Amino acid sequence: MNPLRIFAAPSRYVQGPGALEALGSLLAEHGTRPVVIGDAFVLDLLGERVGSLLVEAGLSATYRVLEGEITAAAADALAAPGADVDTGDVDVVVGLGGGKSLDAAKAVALRLDRPVVTVPTIASNDSPTSAAVAMYDDGHVMVGVDRLRTNPAAVVVDTELVVAAPTAFLRAGVGDAIAKRYEAAGCFAGTGVTPLGTRPLLTGVAIADACYATIRAHAVGGLQACEQGRVTPDLEALVEAVVLMSGLGFENGGLSLAHSLTRGLMPARGAARAMHGEHVAWALLVQREAEGAAEEELIDLTSFLREIGLPISLEELGMPAATEAEVDEIARLTMTAPHLGNLARSISQTEIVAAIGRVERRADAQVVASTTASTATAP
Ligand SMILES: [Zn+2]
Repeated sequence: MNPLRIFAAPSRYVQGPGALEALGSLLAEHGTRPVVIGDAFVLDLLGERVGSLLVEAGLSATYRVLEGEITAAAADALAAPGADVDTGDVDVVVGLGGGKSLDAAKAVALRLDRPVVTVPTIASNDSPTSAAVAMYDDGHVMVGVDRLRTNPAAVVVDTELVVAAPTAFLRAGVGDAIAKRYEAAGCFAGTGVTPLGTRPLLTGVAIADACYATIRAHAVGGLQACEQGRVTPDLEALVEAVVLMSGLGFENGGLSLAHSLTRGLMPARGAARAMHGEHVAWALLVQREAEGAAEEELIDLTSFLREIGLPISLEELGMPAATEAEVDEIARLTMTAPHLGNLARSISQTEIVAAIGRVERRADAQVVASTTASTATAP
């Protein structure tokens, strides 16, 4: 095994209300010719503002509108010289928008061998900080994960944009982030490797722990603030956990069973429509069950996810009355994930099926228990 350990991170991370204003000077560090990639909705909303910011910074930017899925062909087309821009003359690629826009910008940066700057307008996962590029086919089936040579050169998270978006995105981001502590721990305890291909550093594990603690302290207040469209200290802390700590935690600490289960959920009936972070939230419960966590911890974690509105059952993921065959299929696909080996001990498909069964039964019991409690205290 490779005895080296690697730490990877974006070169700059800027977060706060009005962070977008910093974009021009951040881009100017890389040259004067940025290409900005976003979907039609985001460019419609922010294109003008970003355009004048970049002009003020003395940059001559071009814009590319993303349509459809991030397929290899779509990324090739975006990176090809077009009528409006000779992409050979691009100094830096900017991704502006949600996950798709950022993945598209990363895919183009990879093809042009240029740095990428990510400007997320929602905080639904940690993709803005990571070097991972999710690639899909035309039917929105993920076909693979490419990797940038280095992490984004800068990440610009304007929290005023985050609170202007629906809270469901940030809530999903919390689901993606909360698992990282247990995934890094699983990777560290066994013989697992991080996405960098090396054993995790203590730093990765420490950041994943901090991510979890920050979520427990600030998720309720942060999600409430987002609901009200207000940027508060809770909101800032939560966004930092979801975008920065979560990304650093998994790239330097490793993924594990929770993210492996998303392989099974992505094509599953109903659950296919849920967001990545919602998949990961439920999948974390399965991971902790499979790892034999104490009953008090499992009840605490389930209650917390329920309190902040994340799914604790397949039904809440959009898959009511899952059949034995459907659960088997989720477990079978989970076994194909590369990070499945990142556990203290190896795990079988049968054990995953059994853990899913226990999570589902606990969810039923918890929902019944809290319904009874609220009936009992009702006036
Ligand atoms: Zn994730």
